[in-house]
This record gives sequence, structure tokens and C-alpha cells, in this order.
Amino acid sequence: MSLPESIRPPTAAAQALGFLDTATGAFIPPIQPATTYERGTDNQLLSGRLYSRADNPTYEHAELLLSRLEGGAASAVFSSGMSAATAVFMALRPGDHVLVPQVIYWALRGWLLGWATDWGLAVESVDMTDPAKVAAAVRPGRTRLVWIETPANPTLVVTDIAAIAEVARGAGALLAVDSTFATPVHTQAISLGADLVMHSATKYLNGHSDVIAGTVTTRAPGETWDRIKRVRSQVGSVLGPFEAWLLLRGMRTLYVRVAAQSASAQRISEELEGHPGVEAVLYPGLRSFAGHAVAARQMRGGFGGMLSLRVKGGAPGALAFIGRLRVWKRATSLGGVESLVEHRASVEGPQSRTPADLLRMSVGLEDPRDLIEDVLQALA
Ligand SMILES: *Cc1c(COP(=O)(O)O)cnc(C)c1O
Repeated sequence: MSLPESIRPPTAAAQALGFLDTATGAFIPPIQPATTYERGTDNQLLSGRLYSRADNPTYEHAELLLSRLEGGAASAVFSSGMSAATAVFMALRPGDHVLVPQVIYWALRGWLLGWATDWGLAVESVDMTDPAKVAAAVRPGRTRLVWIETPANPTLVVTDIAAIAEVARGAGALLAVDSTFATPVHTQAISLGADLVMHSATKYLNGHSDVIAGTVTTRAPGETWDRIKRVRSQVGSVLGPFEAWLLLRGMRTLYVRVAAQSASAQRISEELEGHPGVEAVLYPGLRSFAGHAVAARQMRGGFGGMLSLRVKGGAPGALAFIGRLRVWKRATSLGGVESLVEHRASVEGPQSRTPADLLRMSVGLEDPRDLIEDVLQALA
């Protein structure tokens, strides 16, 4: 990779770290589909790589780029955001105590309360928006991990990364951040004190709704990182090389996509706030939003492409509203180039704590005027 060390993250992303294939002159990264790697006559591995359940150059290229964007020492790509997140918890030991937020990606919450608890992790949820409550909940010597998600899915609750990092460090626990909504464009959690950063790369990092992937980035090498990598290679929750290649291709446009999506989300939020058909607009970029001050401190260049809308009329009002949309697509997921809207409570089921009138909106790359006009006609 030939770029100077001083280049900024958007440059590293746009040029995929300045890759050059010296044999062909190609500067587009190739796909390496190999599952296995040859040994020399001395029976030593030629490249240090053994088998692609552990190592593959196409994963490594995406990992190197992400480490650069997050300011971390190393990254690992996984077969999904869920396999990335669960690998972090599986690197702990039965009996370890972990603190998780009250507002957390629902499938991870289900896994933590089910599988992880059955396996022996002591999982406790706490209000992460109040560092004093977190300080009261940590058990020094027993709490091994504090997990936060900011802004959180789906109510956009904001957690102060630096404040929680201080609490975690004081208790001898690691801090892991699900930074899927913030993206490395707006937040570099490691510089704020996080030890691990996780992404559902299915969302903004890939950005085109065509790859399921996840990532974990570490501040430093060490035992926990080795255990996370071992979970991946033993379980086989690695990304395929074709998906890793698509992910790397998607990451090259990350900075322009997220900048445009955040600008549109801000504009849409401001436009809808105070509309008579709207109960509340949940968006960290609105001054009226509870987490705005913290978000303004720890997010740079925008507040992300995700917002939630609470409409008048409860669940029936919310469902009628999305039924009238013509430009926004009714679908789960987020972070793609097309705008998506979802009635979260329907998807999360009877256990859901999400308000029944809440619609989660992922702002895409369409002309924001089309998105606003569509919402206004559906509210009318
Ligand atoms: C989607 C999502 C996940 C899970 O990622 P998958 O790639 O769907 O497995 C985890 N955290 C957040 C915040 C998400 O939005």
C-alpha cells in the first residue's frame, strides 16, 4: 500500500489504502477465494496463512482499512453483525458479569437473555445514559465488560462514551461500543476510551443492502483480542471472500454516503418537528433531543442517517401512515442507499419495549425533497 502515513480516513477509504497490484498495475483490489495455502519444502507455511476459516487476504484488506478508519490496532470481519457482537461475549467466561444497555439492538438482547445467560454470563441491563447508575452497577473484579450502543436502535438514545469508559476502566472492565448507527465517519469510539468497537457492517459500512457482515475492532492486541479471533476461527463465523470484497468496495464511498445521509436526516427531522401529525421526532441532531449535548460532543460532522418518528394515533396511526408512503420502502434494516421505514414494535414482537407509534427511518441517498414530500403527503 503506497499512500503516505499522514493521509486522512476518507482518503484511505476512497483508495482502499492505496492498494496496487505490482504484477498487473491494477489498483482495484482482487478477490482471493482460496480456502487453503501451500507449505514450502521445509513444511513451513509460505505466507503464514493456513486455512481461510482463520485467514484470507481479502478479509485482511477490509480489516486493515477499518482499523485505519476507527484508529484501532486490528479488526476482524465476521459473517454478520450478530456473530461479531456475540464473539465479544463468547470471549468471556461463564460467571463473568457484563453490563448492557436498556436500549439495545433487539436480537442481541434476545441472545444475551437467552443463550448467554444459559451459558453462565451474568447479564445485567442498566441505564447507560446516566454514568452514576453505571458506576453503581459495576462490580469491581467481576464485571469484565460494559457494552454500549450509541446512538441506540431504535430510539436513538445517546450514551456518553468517554464517561462510561472512565467508569469501566475504574472497575477493570473493558468497554465495547456498538457503533453501527454512528459509523467511523461521525464517531471514533477508541479515541474516546473504548477498548472494542463493533459494527453491523450490513448497514453503513457496506451501505448497499447486499451483504450481511459484521466487524470488531480492538484498541490493542492482547488476550481478549486473541480469544475473539479464536471464537471466529473455531466457530467459523468468518465472512466469505466475495462478501469481504463487496464490503471493501462499499467502504470506499462510506464518507460521501454518510455525509449526505446525515445532512438529509437533519433536514427531514427539522422539517417534521412540530408537525401536527407528529408526536415526536427522535434525532440526536435536534436541539430538543435529550441526548443532543452529548451527541454534539462525541459525534463530528453530523448525527447520522437514522431517525425515529412517533406519529399521532398509536400503532394504527403508524401503520396507516407507512401504508401511504410511496418513495420510502417498507423494510427492515438500515444504512443502504435507499430510504427504509419500519414499524419496529411489529418486528420485535410482544416482548418489545419500543413505543407502538414509533417508526424507524433510515435515510438513503434520494433527493431529500422527495423524501420530505412523501412523508408530508402520508401524514396529511
Ligand atoms: C443490524 C444491527 C445489528 C446486527 O447486525 P446483523 O448484521 O444484522 O447481524 C447489531 N447492532 C445494530 C445496532 C444493528 O442495527
